[in-house]
Amino acid sequence: MADRRIVYMDNNATTRVAPEVREAMMPFLDGRYGNPSSMHRFGGSVRKHVDTAREQVADLLNADPREIVFTSCGTESDNAAIQGFCETHGNASRLITSVVEHPAVLNTCRHRQKRGTPLAEIGVDEDGMLAIHDLTQAPIDPHTLATFMWANNETGVIFPIDKIAEHVKSKGGLMHTDAVQAVGKVPVDVTKVPVDLLALSGHKLHAPKGVGALYIRKGTALAPLIHGGHQEDGRRGGTENVPYIVGLGKACELAASRMREEQSRVKALRDRLETELLATCTGAKLNGHHEHRLPNTANISFEFIEGESILLLLDEKGIAASSGSACTSGSLEPSHVMRAMGIPYTMAHGSTRFSLSIYNTDADVDAVIEAMPGIVERLRGLSPYVK
Ligand code: PLP
Repeated sequence: MADRRIVYMDNNATTRVAPEVREAMMPFLDGRYGNPSSMHRFGGSVRKHVDTAREQVADLLNADPREIVFTSCGTESDNAAIQGFCETHGNASRLITSVVEHPAVLNTCRHRQKRGTPLAEIGVDEDGMLAIHDLTQAPIDPHTLATFMWANNETGVIFPIDKIAEHVKSKGGLMHTDAVQAVGKVPVDVTKVPVDLLALSGHKLHAPKGVGALYIRKGTALAPLIHGGHQEDGRRGGTENVPYIVGLGKACELAASRMREEQSRVKALRDRLETELLATCTGAKLNGHHEHRLPNTANISFEFIEGESILLLLDEKGIAASSGSACTSGSLEPSHVMRAMGIPYTMAHGSTRFSLSIYNTDADVDAVIEAMPGIVERLRGLSPYVK
């Protein structure tokens, strides 16, 4: 399998490490293994590379490097924001989120709810767009953390984070955004969007798994999630994962320099894929807002067939994609996102996510366009729902 050429269209799950990122990391996996906190030069000389990485991450977000804290992943960044907020505000804390958040946010909020923090979950419409009116009706005070994702991992739908953050701030609340799927794909500028906290993850933008960052706007009080040494200015204990931090910095630098050009190329590939599949596969329908969407994501339902079966047949042809249903206790349940959007079961089961990256080519799109109509016909022929 390793040698076989893969048409990889599951980039919202994880991405390939960019060769430039790998190259930047190698010296720190090899001879430059010093601890950046050491007094001697062998360790201390590594410190400046961590500082450079912090600047590279900050540059991509238009932030100050002192506002960046390195973490182990997007999930940790989300936990640090939400749990850190609740620790800081104690019994007065309140949380507001959306029903379509990634489990990194949703389950963290629900965990705090079980411990007594009031939680409001705002719904979405059939396009996966936040019900803004419901948000404006929700109580928000200076002890409220609102946490809304910048872009949805399943549908790619982009929330109007600027408007959401402006509303939350106007009521005195604090605003966190899970921007794990947005960073590197669309411009994320913290001078234009008044978020206080923002989570990102290395492996979604061509850095390795196991590194992330949390942006903490200057002046935001936030108790640390991980207590320990003085690393990260006392905001996250633990010896810095230097090679991975350097890799994340490089990935952010690359994203900043090539986002505009590369993402419009990715969008053209995605649009061609989508248009062809909707035209050639019977019973196909696009899920999520057609416009306000990440440039790389197409989530398409194929009526009366199961996403898992599509994935297996695509896999046989060396194509990697993802589905909107998860196999829980033996039964295929549509994802919480599809259910929240009110997608009928007959459609939600067949939801398939194609998520592209800068490494996809026209030939990859051709391969999927060629494979899908036959797969859909074959599975529909087997469907018990079709007479
Ligand atoms: N948030 C979103 C929107 C995601 O898509 C993911 C990963 O899929 C995460 C958070 C979690 O990130 P990580 O895998 O780095 O923990």
